[in-house]
Amino acid sequence: MEFSFEEHPHKRLNILTGDWILVSPHRTKRPWQGKVEDAAITERPRYDPQCYLCPGNKRSDGSTNPNYKAPFAFTNDFSSLLTDTPDGGLNVKGLLQAKSEKGICRVVCFSPRHDLTIPQMDIENIVEVIELWKKEFQELAKNEWIKYIQIFENKGDIMGCSNPHPHGQIWSQSSVPVEPEKETIQFKKYFEQNSRSILADYLIEEERSKERLVCENEHFIALVPFWAVWPYECIIISKKQVQYTHQFNVEETIALAEILKALTIKYDNLFDTSFPYSSGIHQAPVNDGDHLEWHWHMHFYPPLLRSATVKKFMVGYEMMANPQRDITAEQAAKKLRELPAVHYLSK
Ligand code: ZN
Repeated sequence: MEFSFEEHPHKRLNILTGDWILVSPHRTKRPWQGKVEDAAITERPRYDPQCYLCPGNKRSDGSTNPNYKAPFAFTNDFSSLLTDTPDGGLNVKGLLQAKSEKGICRVVCFSPRHDLTIPQMDIENIVEVIELWKKEFQELAKNEWIKYIQIFENKGDIMGCSNPHPHGQIWSQSSVPVEPEKETIQFKKYFEQNSRSILADYLIEEERSKERLVCENEHFIALVPFWAVWPYECIIISKKQVQYTHQFNVEETIALAEILKALTIKYDNLFDTSFPYSSGIHQAPVNDGDHLEWHWHMHFYPPLLRSATVKKFMVGYEMMANPQRDITAEQAAKKLRELPAVHYLSK
């Protein structure tokens, strides 16, 4: 009997973190039984007087949002990190260790419209969001003490998002957190050995096989990474190796808006629902030299597995040993690739 990726349990390496994941494709050999359930379609108003993110409304700290017409950013009223934290820490024989952490947390409203999400927004408006991400990132990086800036979005109440108004967050802080730190180590190791970006070389292999591609344009590729853990996990990788979003020119920024829209439309079309996910842009640390090894990319971690209501949990073996999946990256990519490019609500 010969080993087959489609049939036999195996481990795959996540080259970005150095972690392994377990794939058990034999468990999906039975025919696909997940039915597409109709999720309750809740019509959201364009403006919600109760929403603290809508233009002109009062926020919890007593301030009032301006009547913004384009994407709008402000410092989180409930920031997880603060600028005025004094230096401090603890180290008891290396056994009890702690360090103070400073930071600035910002909220980015994608649109004044309460009822839109990225897949429903116009390209020009998504470009405005990206331009605001660039501006916020560069402003935060002017603080010498900030070493890392994480731009992310939690979409959907299943992901713990407390407000359906389209928005994301930017957390900047005085040290490099765990995931980007792991990636920095992996990027560096490969760059030192090959003088190349590990993701640039990985893209060559993905372009060759095309098995895991979901959509692409002249400047970006969206694919299900070989080492995906979440059922329809995707990564957007820039074809040009840059370290930061603000290094993308006008044309590349439009292409990024286009691939963001294309991928999230496919996500919504998968189960005819506003598809929940956590997404985040991984960029090089800041105020820490050149980082020529780093390569810009954006992760999408969606939890839905079989329908608009059935999600994957990371439990049991995944908490005790390591992440595991049934549906292979290739099967997930094929399903996403074959979905229509037009949003189900605009048909
Ligand atoms: Zn990453």
